[in-house]
Amino acid sequence: KSGFIGIIGRPNVGKSTLMNQAIGQKIAITSPVAQTTRNRLRGILTTSEAQLIFVDTPGIHKPHHQLGEVLVQNAKIAIESVDVVLFVVDGTVACGAGDRYIADLLIKSETPVILGLNKIDQQGSNSQLIDDSYQQLAVAHQWSIVKFSAKTGTGLEQLQQLLIEHL
Ligand code: GDP
Ligand code: MG
Repeated sequence: KSGFIGIIGRPNVGKSTLMNQAIGQKIAITSPVAQTTRNRLRGILTTSEAQLIFVDTPGIHKPHHQLGEVLVQNAKIAIESVDVVLFVVDGTVACGAGDRYIADLLIKSETPVILGLNKIDQQGSNSQLIDDSYQQLAVAHQWSIVKFSAKTGTGLEQLQQLLIEHL
């Protein structure tokens, strides 16, 4: 099995960190500053079962200016050109307008989606409420949901299995 996985999500949710952890190399540029990833970067993970080609993308947000529109256009192209979308969200904050904007883009596409709840290492006492907000989104669109920490690596094996199942 082999396929392209598009890592999609708002700026700063941990997309590039996830790609680096998943492939075990520092290729994507991560930064606490939003929008460091201007261009789509690729990383390949070869396991005994499959070859996963991750495509890191710039964060998607509602465009407020022309560069923003170009980024959203590129994201749409990325969504169409991969086999599976990994929609990464920030598990330290509840589902918001930015996530729903992206969800609306994703449901217009035929590409299968996995919802990835990241930063679980940093979740606090309100984690149940936050998880529920994303669970609702996933259930509404019949998306699989998986929780992990791109930073510590917790949950990345289950993520890998789920990705392989979706190829
Ligand atoms: P991107 O804009 O979605 O590509 O996000 P980055 O990968 O550049 O990460 C944005 C910030 O979130 C950086 O400061 C990362 O160190 C941090 N980050 C990413 N993943 C995690 C995680 O699993 N846990 C925690 N605590 N921080 C994370
Ligand atoms: Mg990035």
